[in-house]
Amino acid sequence: MKKTIIYGIISIIFILLLAVISYIIINKTARENAIDTILNTKAWMDITFSAKYKDLRNTDTTKTFYKSEKNIKIPMLLYHDIVEEEPERDLFYMYTTQEQFEKQISGLQELGYRFISMEELIQYNKNELALPEYVALICFDDGYTGNYLRAYPIAKKYQVPINIYVIDEMMEQPGYLTWAQAKEMADSGLVSINTHGKRHIHYEEISTVELVAEITYAHEQIEKHLGKKVRKVFTYPYGTNSKETREALKEAGFIQNLTDNKINYGKSIDYSGLHRIYVLNNESAYKIAQKIYDINPLQRVIRKTLKGTIQKMYPQLLKVE
Ligand SMILES: [Zn+2]
Repeated sequence: MKKTIIYGIISIIFILLLAVISYIIINKTARENAIDTILNTKAWMDITFSAKYKDLRNTDTTKTFYKSEKNIKIPMLLYHDIVEEEPERDLFYMYTTQEQFEKQISGLQELGYRFISMEELIQYNKNELALPEYVALICFDDGYTGNYLRAYPIAKKYQVPINIYVIDEMMEQPGYLTWAQAKEMADSGLVSINTHGKRHIHYEEISTVELVAEITYAHEQIEKHLGKKVRKVFTYPYGTNSKETREALKEAGFIQNLTDNKINYGKSIDYSGLHRIYVLNNESAYKIAQKIYDINPLQRVIRKTLKGTIQKMYPQLLKVE
């Protein structure tokens, strides 16, 4: 008797689930909403994260470690433009509203994160500086005006160092930074200006020799306009890189940033390919912290499958810039 009831309940749940899934498959809007919900709902990943999250909350965030002492995670969070209001049509990862940016920065600070500069990372890597367990770097690609108008004020307000990667030929163009803005920010000591290339192209399409020449030129332009020596750091447009270009730029003395949604680990920092993570406009500080933890292997598989499915259905959604 008891068994029959259980079977009955399972059948009803199964039929309901089937109905919902069929509805979602048939109805395009419902399908889009469902994907949105899956991507935005905190709950679906919170279960396994909660233990780690508690750990973060209970950690003494003032305690610091040398590289030799602990293999800390060093996430580099990637932004593009910081805008006043959410644009109607744009690639969703290309903008963050100023309001969201402030919430993410202050939220991560509240969670115990400390934002560090590239110089601090370098010192840590030499075992000369001890860092707390929860640190992150903030990066901006392309050099949009919004970096000066809306990100820089937040950086000053929360005393957060930021790294901006500019495209030489886009400087002074509408929507992009001017050299005067770049210099003002660099002079504040809070902002590092580095190169994202002379042009915003797929650098694998030109020869490695030309690539090194262009990146060196773009770097020298920054030094010229800022009126000071700048550390050689390069960020690949579209994240397109190869072993050959990485080797050549390493030889030329460049620290290189990839864009591949992976984490850098303190003990194996590789200057010829630092990993960066996309931060999306709708993500809370809590969700960003989840991303940094990158959850357990099962969740990774689920996420990968989900990402693959979305990529097939909405390829433009996951395009890399
Ligand atoms: Zn770019």
